Formats: sequence, structure tokens, C-alpha cells
Amino acid sequence: QSPDVQRMGFPLELCAEADENHVAEFICVICTSLVESPVASECSHIFCVGCIDQWLGRQEHRCPTCAAPIHRALQPLQQASPLAWRVLGRVRVRCPLAGCAWRGEYSEVGSHLTSSESHVGSSGGAAPGTAAGLREQAELKEEARHFKEAITLYSKSLAAEHAPLTLVGRGRVWLQLGQPQQAHADASAALALDGGCAPATSLLVRALVQLGRLDDAVRALDAVPVKDEALARIEESVDALVAADRAARDAYERGDFESARRLFSVVAEWQLL
Ligand SMILES: [Zn+2]
Ligand SMILES: [Zn+2]
Ligand SMILES: [Zn+2]
Repeated sequence: QSPDVQRMGFPLELCAEADENHVAEFICVICTSLVESPVASECSHIFCVGCIDQWLGRQEHRCPTCAAPIHRALQPLQQASPLAWRVLGRVRVRCPLAGCAWRGEYSEVGSHLTSSESHVGSSGGAAPGTAAGLREQAELKEEARHFKEAITLYSKSLAAEHAPLTLVGRGRVWLQLGQPQQAHADASAALALDGGCAPATSLLVRALVQLGRLDDAVRALDAVPVKDEALARIEESVDALVAADRAARDAYERGDFESARRLFSVVAEWQLL
């Protein structure tokens, strides 16, 4: 599993029959999970659409499984191989949410996660189709790490009601998808609606850090006079990051490139909680 690739697929540990042969062909080699939104290559290898998009964006156009050249856009599995698509849909899985005993077929996971009688009902019960209901569904998709679907649902909810916390939710998912620019835009829009929205500030700061804009992150934190616990923790983390960044620059200045390289890589890999 490449560490710099977002995990897009469905966790294999939730498959009832992960060891069986017919599941093997549906494992995305990029995220080593059961394929999600599967697409097939000319060489008949199957990947999550999100994984292969990232892969082809960064590597030469070769299949990650067999290294055959990829000339054409990958086709959705449903069209490329309707039979394989049906077999995949019948893989037995468990619900990805903690505390839920549901078991069923992979093709049913989406409707299970968003149906009113399962999680949506238990988590608050906003009417399906309303802005609040759509946001609840988006949060479930986010929890289940179905990030693309979460983005869609958050966007639908925002079309119905432009609420700061919904913007924050979508921005959080953008960060998961490695899109800090989008996260930054959503955080800024949320703060424009509600300047005191602490989750929006923490999203803004995390996005700025990922964009490498440490000074702006510090400024955004300074603009909040009283910080809640989560923001205080982020501030601590950003302070440590700024210190590491400064130490790296100092090391570079005095010609200690070994230390500079080590410190810069610490800064680059920093993950804000
Ligand atoms: Zn994948
Ligand atoms: Zn291949
Ligand atoms: Zn469930």
C-alpha cells in the first residue's frame, strides 16, 4: 500500500470472505481494499476510480497491476464487465460503522448506510431529503470513508441550505481527499457566514498547514481570542510545527543540510489531529 495514496476502497477486514479467490480480483492494488466505484483497464484490471485517477495523475500511464500501457480512459466496471460487476455486488460484507451488526451484500452497503431505519434514524432522525437529513447522510458516508459520496451529499445539502457546519463537513472530506485548496475555500465560506465558528477555524488552520502557509495558519489562530479545547490543541501543534520549520531553516543556513533535510521532512509529513 502506497502511504501517500488516500485509502479509497472498502476495508477488506469487513468482507466475510476476504480469503476466497473470487474476492481477490476485486482488490484494488493501490489501496489494497475492496474496490469502490470500480473501473476496469484495457488489460482487465480493476481499481477504485479515485485510486487510479491519483495514480495516473502522478505516474506514467501504465497499469499498476501488470504494467501494460494504458491508452484509453478506464471504463466503469458495470459497463466493462456486467458479470464481474454483479459478482462484486454479491460479496458478503459487514457494516463499516462501529456498533452496527448489519451484514449483507456489498451492493447494499450504500442503501444500508443511508436508509432511514438504520443509522440516520438512530443518529437524530432528520427527514430524508432535507438539508439536515442530507448532512446526516454525508456524515455517515464520511465515517465510512466513502469520501466521494460524502462530498456529493454535503454539496446537495448545501444547495438546500448554506449552513456553516455543512461547509465545514465538506471541507473536512476535501482534506481527506488531499485537496487542501478546496478545504480552505469551504472553511473561508463557513467563517464568512459565522466568524465565531470554531470548527471552521480549525479546518482553515489545517488546510493552511497542508498548503504550506504556516504564517497564515498562525495568523488565523491569533484572530481567535478565546479558544476551545480542540483549537487549543491545534494551536499547540502548529506552534511545534513552526518551531520545527524554523529549526530546519536555521540548519540550512548554517550548512547542516543533513539536519535540514530531516527537519523539513518532519514538517512536510506533519499531520494535524
Ligand atoms: Zn483503491
Ligand atoms: Zn493490467
Ligand atoms: Zn450499519
